[in-house]
Amino acid sequence: MKTDKSKKLFEKAVGLIPGGVNSPVRAFKAVGGEPPFIQRGSGSKIFDADGNEYIDYVGSYGPLILGHAHPKVLGAISEAAQNGLTFGAPTEIEVEMARLITKAMPGVEKVRMVSSGTEAVMSALRLSRGFTGRTKIIKFDGCYHGHSDSMLAAAGSGVATLGIAGSPGVTDGAAEDTIVLDYNDLESVEKTFERMGEDIAALIVEPVAANMGLIPPTEGFLEGLKSLTQKSGALLIFDEVITGFRLGLSGAQGFYDVKPDLTCLGKIIGGGLPVGAFGGRSDVMDQLAPNGPVYQAGTLSGNPVSLSAGLMTLKLLADKAIYSQLDERAKRLSEGLEAAATAAKVDVFSTRLGSMSTVFFTKGPVIDYKSAKGSDLKAFASFFKAMLKRGIYLAPSQFEAAFISAAHSQEDIDKTVRAAEEYFLELS
Ligand code: PLP
Repeated sequence: MKTDKSKKLFEKAVGLIPGGVNSPVRAFKAVGGEPPFIQRGSGSKIFDADGNEYIDYVGSYGPLILGHAHPKVLGAISEAAQNGLTFGAPTEIEVEMARLITKAMPGVEKVRMVSSGTEAVMSALRLSRGFTGRTKIIKFDGCYHGHSDSMLAAAGSGVATLGIAGSPGVTDGAAEDTIVLDYNDLESVEKTFERMGEDIAALIVEPVAANMGLIPPTEGFLEGLKSLTQKSGALLIFDEVITGFRLGLSGAQGFYDVKPDLTCLGKIIGGGLPVGAFGGRSDVMDQLAPNGPVYQAGTLSGNPVSLSAGLMTLKLLADKAIYSQLDERAKRLSEGLEAAATAAKVDVFSTRLGSMSTVFFTKGPVIDYKSAKGSDLKAFASFFKAMLKRGIYLAPSQFEAAFISAAHSQEDIDKTVRAAEEYFLELS
């Protein structure tokens, strides 16, 4: 496997960009080695600067549910771009996007577009504080909600991957108002509301945690969060930046039939271009400027190019057969990888929901960040490298999910499982 060109590019990059990357997890620090530089993608495959081909299970960390360079998405982008990139004035496509989102997501009556998931969460938190007049926010250890100050306490994704507890640069004040509890531990949420319910503006949760590896909610967890927040007058925020339109058209809220007060979206609704959105109850959303006093704005918010990619993606996802195919292929992958490890007597605990999955290198069970951290990270790193060498591109961290797209074929999955079987056989 040739790596000369990627190596040279990385050498150059580290002199110019901190760590050589524009987002930390891409640097391969948790698994060792250097990242291949990707030149292009097509369907389920990506190709690096040295001409190596990989089956891609990262999908840009979630947006590419239709695979790389889908012709219809590219067509929509190109058509929108011909008409101008951005206006700073209302456009029809924003209304259409809002219509589709509010129709699909049970908890969203009104929605505002922004340019990233981080911005969506940051805005939803400000709105929650403005609406309730309270200051504290509950989040869960290992859940990632973007990199705004108050959400960096005990975060998942790159923060978990690099083992960073918090982040210098975040003031004590910002961290002080964030209460961090264990995912799936309803009792601790109950106790916290008993102790200080009147101070809590919102509880934010990934309804299916996907940034400490994939960890589904235990039975009754989301329903419990709903009833506790409702009782105390705090808002329930579902961060569906990953799960929105991935776990089905109605996201995790439809899947589990639990309606949050506010919802954060991103990734898929931009079809691979920068986007975010937050929405929810009309009475809460109407507190936003210009209707209400809570300020929130954005130069490129709702720009027609991002929205054209997102809108085309959502339209294509209306074909329900896509979700059943995703489910079936992801099941095949997850079961295949687990069986390959088990046959070689390697302890793994595998989780899957819809098209997202993780193989934890631990006996398990994995139900929260503490148990996820019990994974053998060296064993994961060695598996990751062996798979990469065999043309399988997984996320370079135990604490990320694998994403299947509609472009992944049965053959892709079988090839991936065979690569894992080969590796585990060599081990045993
Ligand atoms: N929320 C969740 C659940 C995420 O997974 C992410 C990013 O991975 C974010 C928020 C932040 O989104 P962005 O990276 O677009 O700022």
